[in-house]
Amino acid sequence: MRSSTHLALLCAAPLLATLCSASAAAQAPPDPTVRLLQQLADAPGPPGAEEPVRALMAPRMKAASDRLQYDGLGSVIAQQGSTGPRIMVDAHMDELGGMVRRITPNGFLTMQMLGGWLDQALPDQRWIILGSKGPVHAVTGIRDIHVLPADDRTKVFPRDSLMLDVGAHTTAEAAALGLSPGDPVVPDAPFTDMNGTGNYLGKAWDDRIGCAALIAAMERTAQAPHPNQIFYVATVQEEIGLRGARTAAQLVKPDIGIALEGGIVGDTPGSHPEETQATLGGGPGIFLYDSSALANRKVVALVKKTAAAKNIPLQLDLVQGYGDDSAEMQLSNGGTPTVNIVVPVRYTHAHNGIVNRQDFDRTVDLLVALLQSLDATTVQQLRDFTPATP
Ligand SMILES: [Zn+2]
Repeated sequence: MRSSTHLALLCAAPLLATLCSASAAAQAPPDPTVRLLQQLADAPGPPGAEEPVRALMAPRMKAASDRLQYDGLGSVIAQQGSTGPRIMVDAHMDELGGMVRRITPNGFLTMQMLGGWLDQALPDQRWIILGSKGPVHAVTGIRDIHVLPADDRTKVFPRDSLMLDVGAHTTAEAAALGLSPGDPVVPDAPFTDMNGTGNYLGKAWDDRIGCAALIAAMERTAQAPHPNQIFYVATVQEEIGLRGARTAAQLVKPDIGIALEGGIVGDTPGSHPEETQATLGGGPGIFLYDSSALANRKVVALVKKTAAAKNIPLQLDLVQGYGDDSAEMQLSNGGTPTVNIVVPVRYTHAHNGIVNRQDFDRTVDLLVALLQSLDATTVQQLRDFTPATP
């Protein structure tokens, strides 16, 4: 599995693309959905350096749309249909990561973290640095227990005390590997099918699981006529402030916004039901509250009705300390009804997360049914705040 990550990274280099696609096809899982999930999870794409993810997304989005455009930050906007309500379906391409800040005289590198990392998630992890000469393997070191004072053994070491070790001994040796300040850094945690349980282990499910749902849904709606203009948008820089969603929504001017995200779950030891009620395998979820947005109540009612009609279990969640692209869509175009639809993820914002295949499939089913339920009349009702007359 280590080689597959290496392969995905090398494939970002144009000269090797042909060779890589041939090798990858030979090793790829036979199920096209698993193949898509693996490709997306393994692709390196921290905020502002989403190129490898965009290279996967854009061709698939172009093939299933009438028009493809990019915003000025790098988000991909694919349009299906040219008349009817403007529906924006959004997933973000970036993942948690970092940037090289400095190379020290003894060849270590300090790192600027990008996105919401826990300090305790950072030591003793493998990383890939996307240097100018290609991928460089790195590890965040850990203090050795044989010399650590007893009082320090249960402490969390702050991120500023961590260094990336690339095996170099001097600044010059690190520079010779093609490393310099600003180089993107991503977790090194290859996709793994979890023992036939229907669960998949990997990095970056936030939000590559949303990216995969976006692709799967748009390929289905491309084959089924709908009376809407659907703008499928793969955004950039969500993890550092929803920046791509803001600029993309300025172009799309949505009437309705649907964010596709990785949710969180409360079914692991130590979780508390007041934090989240969702479970892995419990079906797609919607967020009724998060710290960035309130879902539109009429859209929530429509999602509930759609899920019930399709016999899809729907998890309802209220989560503090969570923001998503629906917040930017909501504040665009004079105010836009939105909802955040999630595929539950165990262990977000860490090297190793878990998603469930049935949750994914049901999320796509729900999204497609929801999109097919929208037309000019429905959207007008969703956007109508006129008090009912007695
Ligand atoms: Zn996310």
